Amino acid sequence: MTETLLDIKNLQAWYGESHILHGVNFEVPKGRIVTLLGRNGAGKTTTLRSIMGLVRKRTGSVAHDGTETIRLSANQIARTGIAYCPEERGIFSSLNVKENLMLPPIIRDGGMSEERIYELFPILKTRGSSQGTKLSGGEQQMLAIARILRSGAQLLLLDEPTEGLAPVIVQHIGEIIKRLKAEGFTILLVEQNFRFAEKLGDVHYVVEHGEVIDRFEREEIASNRDKITGYLGV
Ligand code: ATP
Repeated sequence: MTETLLDIKNLQAWYGESHILHGVNFEVPKGRIVTLLGRNGAGKTTTLRSIMGLVRKRTGSVAHDGTETIRLSANQIARTGIAYCPEERGIFSSLNVKENLMLPPIIRDGGMSEERIYELFPILKTRGSSQGTKLSGGEQQMLAIARILRSGAQLLLLDEPTEGLAPVIVQHIGEIIKRLKAEGFTILLVEQNFRFAEKLGDVHYVVEHGEVIDRFEREEIASNRDKITGYLGV
């Protein structure tokens, strides 16, 4: 049996007075790719932000590798070895590629070396002195993923990495995510793009109105395609 790396029970979260997550439950097995699917506004991003301690009020249980993190600060949570790549990518547009890569603190042993980053993302080496704003959307996404690999985290939370990218770049990002899995990373992926998500995910959870309402293993997708596309409204 695969070990559970992230175990989420009855996670609730609020933005001010708005109660957004109403009790989210799911598990992320170590070394696997798990996706959170759902329509706009379902609560997927809020789930990632809550795991990272980036919402002011949250309750329930988020156990990472056996450590309860619900009462930890965002910094303390990052130090348990989780990294978050937000939808808006979070790179510094005034800095060049190399500066962006060198900036994130290495919070744990095992952060990827510059050489390994360039092996995985050769394009970033050739674009080293280009400013963040001069990069294409795909290059920015690669830089954003590369940055979190510097941190030494083994659990990566990726929020819609394919958003706004051309199909050929989407495919390339998919290959990178597969390679990260092959290297032992555990990935929690939020996606609107189901065709992309289904190629990568080992397990899929459907989020609706701030709750997980269904779960599908990779093998269950084919026989549940109509149900899933119904959930997603695609
Ligand atoms: P999307 O793909 O559109 O980001 P999502 O499933 O990730 O969808 P969330 O971003 O988690 O959804 O949003 C969940 C709900 O929380 C939505 O109703 C949204 O309007 C609300 N919300 C998100 N951010 C805030 C905020 N900063 N303040 C108040 N409400 C928010």
